[in-house]
Amino acid sequence: MKVTVINTGSSSIKYAVFDMSSCILLGSGLLERIGAADSRLRHRRLNDAGAFDELVRTRPVAEHREGFDFILSVASELRILSNPDELFGIGHRVVHGGDAYREAVLIDREVIANIKRFAPLAPLHNPANLKGIEVALERSPGVPQVAVFDTAFHQSMPPHSFHYALPRPMYREHHVRRYGFHGNSHGYVAKRAAELLGKPLEAVNLITLHLGNGASAAAIGGGKSLDTSMGMTPLEGLMMGTRCGDLDPALHFYLAKKAGISLDEIEKLLNTESGLKGVCGVNDMREVERLAAANDPDAQLAIDMFCYRIKKYIGAYCAVLGRVDALVFTGGIGENSPIVRERACAGLSALGIAVDEQKNTAVSKNEAEIQADRSPIKILVIPTNEELEIARQTLETIIRAKGMPRESVCS
Ligand code: AMP
Repeated sequence: MKVTVINTGSSSIKYAVFDMSSCILLGSGLLERIGAADSRLRHRRLNDAGAFDELVRTRPVAEHREGFDFILSVASELRILSNPDELFGIGHRVVHGGDAYREAVLIDREVIANIKRFAPLAPLHNPANLKGIEVALERSPGVPQVAVFDTAFHQSMPPHSFHYALPRPMYREHHVRRYGFHGNSHGYVAKRAAELLGKPLEAVNLITLHLGNGASAAAIGGGKSLDTSMGMTPLEGLMMGTRCGDLDPALHFYLAKKAGISLDEIEKLLNTESGLKGVCGVNDMREVERLAAANDPDAQLAIDMFCYRIKKYIGAYCAVLGRVDALVFTGGIGENSPIVRERACAGLSALGIAVDEQKNTAVSKNEAEIQADRSPIKILVIPTNEELEIARQTLETIIRAKGMPRESVCS
């Protein structure tokens, strides 16, 4: 029972093939620089010893259709897929499902029209995601295909949490509201956290922190997203690699009117030149930490700001949830940076949150509990697996649509 997960960007295609009877990743890869003379496919394949072999191929790939054929030929050569119709399903990551989708859906004409309709809310992502869907439908017409939305998990937010304090027509006519993103990551770690806590998902209250190049926090009550830090777009909320996160909206008028910076330039400034990069010149947290350790004051300030803002959201979400069972760190930074985890939780023992220094520094690639003995709230580090979450939702959506039993599926 093989399921492929596809994440199509404007010049890239990321993919993963799972055997869903055992939840095993058979192979994955990334085709980058589509449209350039040196497009590169980096592919990993599970070998018989249970490790991954890597293969890299470079050749010109003019557009996405050719990119798909290239990936399929490599998958077939490596005997991951003998032909695309062998697949039980294909799951497409789609960034914005607006307020139309609370869960994954089988792709049909209406779904395609809706993904197009919401493209103005995610202009960098939805059109590219659609391109992947169109090519995959063309190349594998007999395989059921599912759209899995980054926004869907947060559709459970109540109105007082998702509305902005703007005149009602802004919402009714222009869909201006908070949607939230990283839903597949927050959803995946929430399920894992519930398993680790030994409770049903519906019974747990969690604060999940997805800290990667993009970063967001979520308040999860009874297993459902009640609030999240990203808003109408992924720009709101925590400080990120290159995005500013929360700021005063009046700053836009000030920059436009007083500094003569155009709206397009402001958009670029806030999305690609701000965050860690804006404060200290680099957006890679490993490099920021290295500079800070060498006494670079800008890098030290960047880490202070990054962690302070996480702490503010933790405090806010404790208030939203009332009772918190666990705080969960995930994403490249959340999984790998003891400094960020320690600083984000520092001084929160009055809220029941205290990190054990030794457990925190000992975390290495695996799931771990890092709270101090005196901490009533568990602090978990859970490596995220958005691809597996998308594969699961793909499978569940198809099984439901076909009225099949669920037993043969891994959980
Ligand atoms: P992601 O977007 O989830 O892939 O995460 C990327 C971020 O994780 C980058 O800022 C990396 O610098 C950061 N990261 C990865 N490994 C480490 C590490 N060992 N220590 C600190 N940050 C890390």
